[in-house]
Amino acid sequence: MIKESLQKIKNLLPKHVTLVAVSKTKPISDIQEAYDAGQRIFGENKIQEMASKFEALPKDIEWHMIGHLQRNKVKYMAHFVNLIHGVDSLKTLQEINKQAKKHHRIINCLLQIKIAKEDSKFGLSFDQAKEIIASEEFKSLQNIKITGLMGMATFTDNEQQLSEEFSSLHTFFLQERINKSELTTLSMGMSGDYELAIKNGSNMVRIGSSIFGHRNYIA
Ligand SMILES: *Cc1c(COP(=O)(O)O)cnc(C)c1O
Repeated sequence: MIKESLQKIKNLLPKHVTLVAVSKTKPISDIQEAYDAGQRIFGENKIQEMASKFEALPKDIEWHMIGHLQRNKVKYMAHFVNLIHGVDSLKTLQEINKQAKKHHRIINCLLQIKIAKEDSKFGLSFDQAKEIIASEEFKSLQNIKITGLMGMATFTDNEQQLSEEFSSLHTFFLQERINKSELTTLSMGMSGDYELAIKNGSNMVRIGSSIFGHRNYIA
């Protein structure tokens, strides 16, 4: 089942789009099945859950943290995480930098931008993101690298609205990239909206339920 769903999605994705298989709440056996089918990038939204899965699974997996971060837990993933999607403050960047330094690593991060018109979603405004990137505090952090931006659209069927939200982030991404060539990743799109996200400039999609089936609880 997982193998077939994964293959179906991979066939739909253009070559330049990276697939993050979102395995939150799913057992090790499901991840192993996707791994055996060739998938190497997995996304989780709870740090400790990701850390125990990291311990149990093959070491050539790339682990992406896609959830909202609790700063006091960054230390549990600093030795292995490949990309942190949900960074939405300078304080969090400072903590990631501190923990990365302890492990002599540079950790790649995406700034999460709030594009949804919903109160429940986290993220920075465009101005706040610009401010962080331009700040001296940020420039002094040697053990992190901002490699792109991440956004979550409103939970709606309204394609017009989804397209507007995605394309607003794409436009901002292109503008910021002019002066910052290491911004290469634009993480937008989940099971319900990834095709629209790709049409509007996404080059990394985070897909869970369309690969692994529905989750039993909201995580
Ligand atoms: C759960 C989650 C996803 C995947 O959602 P699906 O609808 O299951 O594809 C993507 N991004 C984030 C940030 C998530 O928390």
